[in-house]
Amino acid sequence: MIELHGLTKLYDDARVVDDVSLTVDQGEFCVLIGPSGCGKSTTLKMINRLVPLTSGRILLHGEDVAALPAEQLRRRIGYAIQSIGLFPHWTVAQNIAVVPTLLKWPKARIADRVEELLALLRLDADGFRDKYPHELSGGQAQRVGVARALAADPDVMLMDEPFGALDPITREVLQAELARVHHETGKTIVFVTHDMDEALKLATRIAVMNEGRLVQYDRPIELLFSPADDFVRDFLGKADLGLKLLTRRWVHQYVAPAPWADRRASMGSLRDIVATHGHVWLVDGDGRPEGLFGARLWRAEGDPLGELSRIHPDWLATPEMTMKEALSRMVWRRVLALPVVDADGRLSGEVTMAGVMGRQPEGAAA
Ligand code: ADP
Ligand code: MG
Repeated sequence: MIELHGLTKLYDDARVVDDVSLTVDQGEFCVLIGPSGCGKSTTLKMINRLVPLTSGRILLHGEDVAALPAEQLRRRIGYAIQSIGLFPHWTVAQNIAVVPTLLKWPKARIADRVEELLALLRLDADGFRDKYPHELSGGQAQRVGVARALAADPDVMLMDEPFGALDPITREVLQAELARVHHETGKTIVFVTHDMDEALKLATRIAVMNEGRLVQYDRPIELLFSPADDFVRDFLGKADLGLKLLTRRWVHQYVAPAPWADRRASMGSLRDIVATHGHVWLVDGDGRPEGLFGARLWRAEGDPLGELSRIHPDWLATPEMTMKEALSRMVWRRVLALPVVDADGRLSGEVTMAGVMGRQPEGAAA
């Protein structure tokens, strides 16, 4: 899909990108990561010719990028950056339509495409189409930036620290959105970051760079288990490797059947379930978890049967949540299990601390 062959960039005598060769397959989410100044942005900009290369070759679907007409380059390679670069005096719709307009698409087709992209990025079309960038939050502006990069339906999306300027919560939301968009569109993405958690969460492959050179190019799990050298090991951060691993594990890989009972169940039957399982989730008439009975889950001392504990919304897990997030919620709520709920909020299972410790999940290698 994208092949870099001996890609090199010199500024004066400095080799800021030094003989980088790698292949990104169709549909991959490739993350370039490394410390500031290691040549990530320069590598990305050489792919769409924003920066001329000193030597080497870049092939897109087997064609030399250097030989592509500018118009094809724009259509086939989308580009999104941190500062977004939305035009301040243009509406959201006009901003999204930049490339289709340059490519002289008919008006109706452009309007349809804008609607489609607003829907894909979960921006209500009627509310956002005619807004100006200054009326948007950082997260909304970044969604528009991603929509704009996708506008002409490019083969490849290049993204340079697109979420770097967002607050941590908005950032997590946008990461999840991008993962969904990647899943739904099957686009090939090359994404630059210096944040290993972000890389581990999003990447299908990670390219670690240092001082202009490619140090390791591997799947996230391989990187975690077999770092190529001390630089990669240090960059991964020894201290929380275990937690980082859990950013590549999902709740659906760990979910187990949950002991449950209707909230109107008799005390005796609850006692029986607790005697067997240590706890029981109480569900309402629609099957939504409402409470937990059985204090053995709690770290706190006290009656082993304990009181009924009301389930707080942030005490829930969903199948798509990472196990790192689930674990974080367990620690935060001081519980050893979370109820897992489906899209309708119904209890579909549970994840437990014992489950995290106890086994390698199926299909975890990806
Ligand atoms: P990264 O994105 O990994 O932080 P960059 O690719 O932006 O790194 O930069 C790599 C190196 O190239 C840095 O040392 C930077 O100072 C240098 N560099 C980038 N652009 C230019 C330029 N236009 N002229 C001279 N040096 C540059
Ligand atoms: Mg950069």
